[in-house]
Amino acid sequence: MVDHGIREHATWSASSTARNVHCAGALTLAQFAPPDKESIHAARGTACHQIAEKCLTEGVDASAFLDTVEKTKAHEITIDEELVNSAQEYVDYCRQFMHPPVWYWIEERFSLGDLNPPFDAGGTGDFVTYDEATQTLEIVDLKNGMGVVDVKDNPQLRTYGLGALLHHQDLDVETVKVTIVQPRAPHKDGRIRSETFHVADLVAWTADLLKSMKRSKQAMDEYEAAGGNSVKLDAWAEKWLTPGKCTFCPAEGTCPALRKGAMDVAAVWFDDLDQPRIGNSALDTSPEALARDLDMIPMLEDWIKARRAYAHAQAETGVEIPGYQLSEKIGNRKWVDDPALAARLMAELGLDESAIYADPKLKSPAQMDKLLGAKRKDMIVPFVERPITGTNLVSVDKTSRPPAKTVAQKHFEPQQ
Ligand code: SF4
Repeated sequence: MVDHGIREHATWSASSTARNVHCAGALTLAQFAPPDKESIHAARGTACHQIAEKCLTEGVDASAFLDTVEKTKAHEITIDEELVNSAQEYVDYCRQFMHPPVWYWIEERFSLGDLNPPFDAGGTGDFVTYDEATQTLEIVDLKNGMGVVDVKDNPQLRTYGLGALLHHQDLDVETVKVTIVQPRAPHKDGRIRSETFHVADLVAWTADLLKSMKRSKQAMDEYEAAGGNSVKLDAWAEKWLTPGKCTFCPAEGTCPALRKGAMDVAAVWFDDLDQPRIGNSALDTSPEALARDLDMIPMLEDWIKARRAYAHAQAETGVEIPGYQLSEKIGNRKWVDDPALAARLMAELGLDESAIYADPKLKSPAQMDKLLGAKRKDMIVPFVERPITGTNLVSVDKTSRPPAKTVAQKHFEPQQ
């Protein structure tokens, strides 16, 4: 099975095409970004792809994986109904092509190497199918996220189409069709939507793609030629960085263009730190003023979020940030891991099964508090724990907790 967590490993991956075409300097800055930390949303997407692939290769339905656990790069995901439903919708769509005379390929990795691009470029098509009768090559892409993705003129999908075409030069292809299956994102064109184009259109688009790749390469060369000179690097950033498609850019936390954009927004509001322009004056509460501020807020918010995430990632690798420390993030209360827990609870609390279960699961500690009332709720304390779910980066002035260990420190701790 394809390792879904690391499958887009090319320098110019299909999923980064839109960003790299829009911002020629993104690939240069991405080289210096810290390793990507897998978010829980990304992990759920990976788990969904993993079970979908197993369904297609093993001939089972997604419900066979309900309540099983899929391991991803940084998480263990328990397959719930939402993931089952997403995977099954994609599987049902693909299965209609899985019989002769239609050909199909599951998780097909491809490279754009035949085009002689300046970077290693490629990706993985979730499902590729070829219909000889209509000379159509179709690439199906499963998206588990809720952020609506448009299929029309989608550079990622066009890159998949191009990759599949190059990979199957033996096939007589006249039409390329790209399809998104996005079960969790309602769209006016449906949860499954396609775009179809003639091979000649894809060839024309390829010429533009290669031009964009060359621009990115030129940006990279000019960055190197600047040799760390800050004046030259400022000019470089001005010339090559174009914010606008920054979501998921690995350089978000270090990008000078985003920082400048956020500072420009702040400058509109505060031309003097002691005299903020935005106050409660009647003028600033007008709908027009609110609209102006709402337009500017996302740029500040996105930059703050990216900057915080970068600082946190740095602290976790052991970088000391003056005035800040890592602090353990404590999760919600949960029952201790004890196979005899239910029996012990019933004995200790004097309750029977019907009282401690909210079918089919044991009641949560909060539900049990309610059941026991204020006077008796402390009786469950020995059976409850609060797991550490990660760390936060906090100001040392605002915490009385001892610093948490960094990832590096934990790694080198002697094993018990
Ligand atoms: S964060 Fe945005 S502007 Fe900066 S390099 Fe990435 S895509 Fe370009």
